Amino acid sequence: MKILSSPAIILKRIEYGDFDLIITFFTLNYGKITAMAKYAKKSKKRFASVLEPFGELNIVTTSGRNKGLLILTEVCLSHSFMEIKKNILKTAYASYWAEIINKSVESSVIEKQLYILFYKLLDMIDKNLISETAANIIFQIRFANISGIKPQLEKCCKCKSEINRIKGEKLFFDIEKGSVICENCNSGNKKNIPLFKGTVKQLLWVQDKEIEKVLKMKFTEYCLQQATNLMEHFIGYYVGKEFNSLKFLKEVG
Ligand SMILES: [Zn+2]
Repeated sequence: MKILSSPAIILKRIEYGDFDLIITFFTLNYGKITAMAKYAKKSKKRFASVLEPFGELNIVTTSGRNKGLLILTEVCLSHSFMEIKKNILKTAYASYWAEIINKSVESSVIEKQLYILFYKLLDMIDKNLISETAANIIFQIRFANISGIKPQLEKCCKCKSEINRIKGEKLFFDIEKGSVICENCNSGNKKNIPLFKGTVKQLLWVQDKEIEKVLKMKFTEYCLQQATNLMEHFIGYYVGKEFNSLKFLKEVG
């Protein structure tokens, strides 16, 4: 019998029959895995009500009789993230990040960098060390880096001018090309997303600097607005999925 043991964060829970839950976990050691929590619905004692988003758990699973199906045998809470649980806006952001991970990563592919990013940002919003909007931009940009869908922000995709050499403050972003485009090259294309040069520079910083520096940075108000709009479009387009939690976020945000 194969035993797996790892820190884990719940991405999704589905009720199964009258007694059981099927839970998708994002684990540090094994990536995304799905396991059945038998009698979790029926008996609160068995898993002591810890099987709720978004605390960090330590879980142990074994392989069941059906090949491939994992059975949750032990679970203990290591970080409860109570402030997220109590606050609907924080819950909405955490749900959006969980859905991005759930819909983009393959099962059983180890994603340690992404796990650490997710954990770190949950911890930061739980402790009110960062605004949820800033955390959301950082999550999406760094997720894009890790997933190999990094937006091109250094230069215009058409004339190849570096953004520092482009005159004026107005730039655009072409989602299909995944790149910044200068005002000249954009030539009135209304589909592209407007961005100030200052926003692009802040996003470049988020892309490339060490995470500890990025987490301390102060975003300007217009950067927060433009970057939120850009990254939500970008992630939707490149992950190629609709996110129900994003609709929820817009309702409560
Ligand atoms: Zn250009």
